[in-house]
Amino acid sequence: MRKNMLGNTGLEGTELCFGALPFGPLQKNLPLDEATAVVCAALKGGINFIDTAQLYKTYAPIRHALQQTKKRPVIASKSPATTYEEMQKAIEEALNELNLDEIDIFHLHAARAGEDVFTKRQGALECLYDHKARGRVKAVGISTHSVKVTALAATVKGIDVVFPLLNRAGHGILDGNREEMEKAVAQCVAAGKGVYLMKPLAGGILVGEYAQAVEYVRSIPGCASIALGMVSTAEVEYNLNYFRGYKPATLPSIAAMKKRFMVVESLCAGCLKCVETCPNHAISEKTGKGFIQQEACLTCGYCVGACPQFAIRLV
Ligand code: SF4
Ligand code: SF4
Repeated sequence: MRKNMLGNTGLEGTELCFGALPFGPLQKNLPLDEATAVVCAALKGGINFIDTAQLYKTYAPIRHALQQTKKRPVIASKSPATTYEEMQKAIEEALNELNLDEIDIFHLHAARAGEDVFTKRQGALECLYDHKARGRVKAVGISTHSVKVTALAATVKGIDVVFPLLNRAGHGILDGNREEMEKAVAQCVAAGKGVYLMKPLAGGILVGEYAQAVEYVRSIPGCASIALGMVSTAEVEYNLNYFRGYKPATLPSIAAMKKRFMVVESLCAGCLKCVETCPNHAISEKTGKGFIQQEACLTCGYCVGACPQFAIRLV
């Protein structure tokens, strides 16, 4: 499979990046051995780039897969930390749980953050810079759904990698539209940042037009890689075949998992923590409870982890 350099980082990732959110506890919640088998299939199949996060809680299956396959892919993680101390803990947690001495990319996890993210989270950013200087983090990045933050990241000297949201439907993009995000991505590429893209299938919404959706993001100039979530070895195989140039006619396993998140009203305590958490403003208050507008939901599952009542379920 084709590999591309991530900007000026010296890191080279396969064009297909394994997105390690959907198989974890926020979504599919596979048992550890099954989750490990999915990551192993991806690594053995030639994928050398994994994107995970502190919030995804998927370090354990990745660690097991690294041990079992003896492969060492490029690994990106991220944290919503604001302060220096919080980010330090997040990096330590990643290194310990992945059993690594250094991690390749560590992002500010800033899905819905605004343009003040670099000042509001200056402490966390300084921590990332310090760890890079000590060789514990190879590249510092930011993951974002926002056009404005993507454009701003192009101007921030210490940011090596940018991980924005972009898909053919423009679904989930904040502070602008698809064309504006394309321009912001181009600014990052021109500034020498490594760029890889998230949510090419818009959280599953575009799964019925897989080839068009994937080809759209592959055509973005300077895009080194695209992160696709995979929850089974069948999905890994499908994606691998597609990126190797075969074009299977159907994707039954992904089509079959087209599910949606819903608030179970009887369990909901009306705290509205989910409203604050949703990066896509898809949850609002309705008669004192959280309510998910399906057409705006990206099926990221972040609200699941935020709900103290376990009232948000994948159905
Ligand atoms: S976080 Fe959970 S309990 Fe609170 S409003 Fe949302 S669904 Fe209800
Ligand atoms: S409601 Fe929001 S946080 Fe929850 S899965 Fe949908 S987009 Fe993600």
